[in-house]
Amino acid sequence: MPPKSKKPSLATLAIHGAREAHAHGDAVVEPLVQSVNHLQKPGTGEGLLYTRYGNTPNAARVQKRLALLEGAEASLLLSSGMAATACALLALLRPGDHLLASQYIYGGTHRLFIEEFVRMGIDVQLVDPWEPRVWRKNIRKETRAIFLETPVNPTCRVLDLRPISFLTRNSGIALVVDSTFASPINFRPLEHGADVVIHSATKYLNGHHDVLMGAVLGSEPYIEEVLQKEMLWGQTPDPFACWLLERGLKTLDVRVQRSNETAMQVALWAEKRKEVVQVHYPGLKSHPDHEIAKDILDGYGGMLALELKGGGKAADRFLKRLRLVTHAPSLGGVDTLVSEPRFTSHAKMTPAERAAIGIPDGFLRFSIGLESAEDLIADLEQALK
Ligand SMILES: *Cc1c(COP(=O)(O)O)cnc(C)c1O
Repeated sequence: MPPKSKKPSLATLAIHGAREAHAHGDAVVEPLVQSVNHLQKPGTGEGLLYTRYGNTPNAARVQKRLALLEGAEASLLLSSGMAATACALLALLRPGDHLLASQYIYGGTHRLFIEEFVRMGIDVQLVDPWEPRVWRKNIRKETRAIFLETPVNPTCRVLDLRPISFLTRNSGIALVVDSTFASPINFRPLEHGADVVIHSATKYLNGHHDVLMGAVLGSEPYIEEVLQKEMLWGQTPDPFACWLLERGLKTLDVRVQRSNETAMQVALWAEKRKEVVQVHYPGLKSHPDHEIAKDILDGYGGMLALELKGGGKAADRFLKRLRLVTHAPSLGGVDTLVSEPRFTSHAKMTPAERAAIGIPDGFLRFSIGLESAEDLIADLEQALK
């Protein structure tokens, strides 16, 4: 697929974006400034740097770089993806406001909405994003924001933001998109009419399973509001975490491109296996959203799911036999990981409820990492036998 973006290449921005000009003798790698406070000029309030204010050197540079990657005016780093979601929405919602959200969202986000936000007097309504005209039908005068994730965990369904943003633009509602699964390499929601983008930077942005962080991106005045929440709720990352994220970001483009390619190879291989009932991957013609994915994504992603014949028992047996693929939660890093929604994101549902939303027992979610496709397929093959 040709890239949809006309901006300077994302691969280059991920390394050089927002970098100060170098002088002879400077370190090639930007230094880690692991200091909470900084000297301040007497007689002025300007230049006040403090880690919790999100303005120290390591945070500031990565924030500018992420904004360039997503095509946003501004961005803010927070101490986790959950911190990003919480502060992003606390900056938008007041008691009495209505939040319209997709029901297919990250488990932690779901709990934040129905346990915390509801208690704060925010009216949360979860809807099925594939019900026809669902957004239009449910918007009220109190609706302040629409929240969704795409691609959707774990079935990799893809939502088209354009018709939704047409509605939100015309009614002054903020369209907030958790774009963790796509990363800016595969999809940039702001180009499709979203107002706010959220990332769990723990996943693709860092990509090495060693940093917990989140990011919010949007307009400058809005990010200033999110910053006020971050400062007061204390959700700011440490400089070292920002430095590690900067390091991880440099390889974002190659990592995501490689995961895209390998996931496609694994999906094509899995489609031919008689032990696999169904393969969920937007790059396959059999995927319900293949056409829309082809149209709006720059890459189909590194996430895919397989449904094994024989249900939970077959899944248990398969997982015990894997040697290379790691059975662990989370996603978006160099190691290929597999997890079972019935024990992780969808553990609170009954098997029948899960089956009804397309996640029967025997459903395995893979985050394809950077091992060779050949070695991965060999491992999957020996575990299936
Ligand atoms: C992991 C994840 C989160 C939460 O991020 P943390 O960094 O674990 O707090 C939110 N949304 C999605 C889609 C995720 O995968």
